[in-house]
Amino acid sequence: MTSKTHLLGLSLDQLEAELAARGEPTYRARQVFGWIFQRLVTDFGQMTDLPAALRQSLGNEYSILAARELRRSVAAEGTTKTLLQWPDGATTETVMIPSQDRRAGSTGRQRRTVCLSTQVGCDVGCRFCASGIGGALRNLHVGEVVEQAARVAQHLHARGDRLSHVVFMGMGEPLANYEVTVAAVRHLNARWGLGLAQRRITVSTVGLPTQIERLSREGLQTTLALSLHAPNEELRRALIPWASGVPLTRLLQSCETYFHATGREITLEYCLLAGTNDGHEHAAQLAAIATRLHAHVNLLLYNPVQGLPFNRPSEVQAHGFLAALRRRGVNAHLRPSRGLETDAACGQLRRRQSLRRG
Ligand code: SF4
Repeated sequence: MTSKTHLLGLSLDQLEAELAARGEPTYRARQVFGWIFQRLVTDFGQMTDLPAALRQSLGNEYSILAARELRRSVAAEGTTKTLLQWPDGATTETVMIPSQDRRAGSTGRQRRTVCLSTQVGCDVGCRFCASGIGGALRNLHVGEVVEQAARVAQHLHARGDRLSHVVFMGMGEPLANYEVTVAAVRHLNARWGLGLAQRRITVSTVGLPTQIERLSREGLQTTLALSLHAPNEELRRALIPWASGVPLTRLLQSCETYFHATGREITLEYCLLAGTNDGHEHAAQLAAIATRLHAHVNLLLYNPVQGLPFNRPSEVQAHGFLAALRRRGVNAHLRPSRGLETDAACGQLRRRQSLRRG
């Protein structure tokens, strides 16, 4: 295991303090982060405006990229999943999703969204998800979260493209690793960091009311996405075991607090599971929640996971569900499914790797 400090885990202030302690001018910190986040260089040797001795000593003591890329799978429409292994042997997934900006009035620009993991595994244990199998092994550190985005930004940069959006929607529950998630948001947003607008950063949660309320006080303009998946208490407890300690009413109250404190419209993520949560009554219940929260709804088509008893509804069924929401005045969209032919479900790439090893 490397004993080097992960540079991407440091803020500008922290790096300035570390350099000052070594007798270096503090402006060197901005130079280093400029190379990493703007020019997307990951080798100290290429930072040609730093003295050679400093480049050498930084290389001895700090790592820029700490992970090893174990596997990459690319689907036909360009969705790219990368399996990373961290120095302690833990593995996580990062996904890059290309899409078209379809907002009203948009010019149809290309979006390049990275989906970040925040934990190794996940304790929430949604019955339909591969990441929850085995629980959470550990939280990721700030540097490990930022590195995922930096790697994708670097790959895109190498082909003349750029990262435009970030979603904390990969493996793990971001708000269960609260301090790291918020610090990573600040690094990604900072001018010395990747410089992504806060509104282009989405934090997705299965629902931790206390942390949602805390997030509403951070002074951030990030989008909050609630992974709802079940529109009533009974089904929610059946699908999301973790939710049994969090009544739906309490969760919805915290979302209202977030909306009023930030003015940001909340997104409800709803993964359609055939015969489980895609009935008429579910559409009516979901519409009532969306109306109460002034939220818009993203419907996702489930990507089946080997060994789990859930299926994807037909396109006809899914479009019927979408129409039922829209008839009730809900702003809802059905997201195109991505990369069904690859290891497309959340956590599936990592799971296959461990099954292969096991
Ligand atoms: S869907 Fe998300 S919250 Fe649920 S188990 Fe999977 S990673 Fe965890």
